[in-house]
Amino acid sequence: MSKTNLAYQETFDCVQCGYCLPACPTYKTMGKETHSPRGRINLVKMAAEGKISLSELEGPIDLCLGCRACETACPTNVQYGKILESAKEVLQEDRRNRMPKRVKMFQSFFFNRVLPSDTVLTMAGAGLSFYQKSGLQKATRKLGILKQFPENIASFEKILPEVAGPIRTKSRVQRAPVQEVPTYSVGFFTGCIMNTMFSSINALSIKLLEAAGCEVKVIKEQTCCGALQNHSGETKITKELAKKNIEAFEKYQFDFVVNSIGGCGAMLVEYDHLLADEPEWAERAKNFARKNVDISVLLSNLPLPFKNEIRKTVTYQPSCHMTNVQKRTNEPLELLKSIPGITYKEIPEKDMCCGSAGIYNIVNYHESMDILDDKMEQVKKVKPEIIVTTNPGCHLQMKLGVEREGQSENVQVVHLVELLAKSCEINV
Ligand code: SF4
Ligand code: SF4
Repeated sequence: MSKTNLAYQETFDCVQCGYCLPACPTYKTMGKETHSPRGRINLVKMAAEGKISLSELEGPIDLCLGCRACETACPTNVQYGKILESAKEVLQEDRRNRMPKRVKMFQSFFFNRVLPSDTVLTMAGAGLSFYQKSGLQKATRKLGILKQFPENIASFEKILPEVAGPIRTKSRVQRAPVQEVPTYSVGFFTGCIMNTMFSSINALSIKLLEAAGCEVKVIKEQTCCGALQNHSGETKITKELAKKNIEAFEKYQFDFVVNSIGGCGAMLVEYDHLLADEPEWAERAKNFARKNVDISVLLSNLPLPFKNEIRKTVTYQPSCHMTNVQKRTNEPLELLKSIPGITYKEIPEKDMCCGSAGIYNIVNYHESMDILDDKMEQVKKVKPEIIVTTNPGCHLQMKLGVEREGQSENVQVVHLVELLAKSCEINV
């Protein structure tokens, strides 16, 4: 991997017009050209030409959220995602060469063995569940032990969702198929972190799909989508995971592969780009990507058995990966508005990223909090009682935003499927 692997040709599509600048959250909060899409594209071009070193490229690229709002805003269709991924891959390779052996081993263990491993994630979920239910969490908070931890870890501990133990998680997602002639045959993609931290959302998603007439299967051969690895420039590992998922799902004749995770969904629909240069996989990846949809896409076309009105003021924080990569903007919104009783109010600049972006909010905590505080300023203008999200990362980030505003008692943060299920009287 060298500078020649940077997406150099693609940088020439940028005509330097600057239309993307107002859409870029890091340009807005940091106010520097180097932290704008145009600036980053120029830096990639200069690095490829040998005019700057990779270390000069590193900071601006690491501080990019990868939200790809610039791509949506760009009138000349610059492939910013491709440029960014090439830069991340080259930088990661360069870093790997300089990393101490133990850091390299830890990273490889995390990406290769933790995220894709059902066993390790089940153990992690069990540990978290024990921490929450044994009284350890209460004691930790009471004794002020969290103050000894870095601010980013302590902040996220406060808003951890209630994690189910391993037996509950398993029984939640193993659903019996419906017996009638189904509308669609659906393979459900559970996601690794989603299934560990938010197994109830997966379980509700499956029940909603079944209530809408689908036959749903959760196949155990599926693995992590590779999004976090891809965002960290680990393209080789991402490709291996993509191939495993394609192989797993193509054994079945599903009409759709459905997920409730905006970020993972964005990775899954781009498997065709990821494997475009591998002749044995390109067509298979294309077929797989075509079948992958967010749950809102399917549910917005099927009848749902709504029973209860939800008389609340509700707003929606879209996930960037749903908007800018999956290009699904109408479906979740229409579905949300179809819930009887709700009053929908739109957040000004709703498409601006909340600052979550995978693990950006942990690695670049302070920059992420600046972006989140900006977002909360806009949220306050519509005074919602409920904030709806469609991605676990945004979900936690918005919970943190509400917490930072001291509004945890008054404002709820829920996934879209939770609100739909509530109105349909579907529980886990
Ligand atoms: S991906 Fe997002 S943060 Fe990065 S340059 Fe584009 S708009 Fe800015
Ligand atoms: S990325 Fe697109 S919108 Fe931004 S400066 Fe370049 S051409 Fe203009």
